[in-house]
Amino acid sequence: MSSEHPEKITGGCLCGAIRYEILFDEGSAWPPMIGTCQCSMCRKWTGCLFSTDLVVEKTQISPDWDTFESFAQYESSPGTKRAFCSKCGSSLAWFNHDMPKDVIIFVGTIDEQFLMGKVLEGTVKETEHGKHFERGTGYAKKLTDASTAGNLYWQNAIPGVTDHLAGPKFLQHFIDKAPLPETTP
Ligand SMILES: [Zn+2]
Ligand SMILES: [Zn+2]
Repeated sequence: MSSEHPEKITGGCLCGAIRYEILFDEGSAWPPMIGTCQCSMCRKWTGCLFSTDLVVEKTQISPDWDTFESFAQYESSPGTKRAFCSKCGSSLAWFNHDMPKDVIIFVGTIDEQFLMGKVLEGTVKETEHGKHFERGTGYAKKLTDASTAGNLYWQNAIPGVTDHLAGPKFLQHFIDKAPLPETTP
């Protein structure tokens, strides 16, 4: 496979108790569906002003998260469960009953080598600001481009702070609503 299409991507929680692989075989969408959400629940849940979410099929994930002792879920609203590590508290993903085959993973849980690229051997330099190094291919640009699924809860976008995101914009959820008309800035 070309460097533009990894066979798999790895990630996990902060303490390492939960680790996962997302497999991208011939039949898997690349890039996968990406969305962002600015609802107040995603803000509280991630501690960030918006979540960036990767939508993949449960069958692409291994191992089964239920096999981890610290895997826990919180039902934040009827039909929506938010998965986390009960040891370190990392938010990992959410599940929605309208999308029973899918898992919606927070992009920030993906390992650095896949987001930004591996540090290239022999490129580490000490500078007055700290260590500087060069990296190989990372996929963060593809894995954060919400032009596939869109930006949810645009009604909560904060002018000048979180209203710069590309892709279709929905006042609330995209499942049964049309996107907002494009406006020229
Ligand atoms: Zn953990
Ligand atoms: Zn949300």
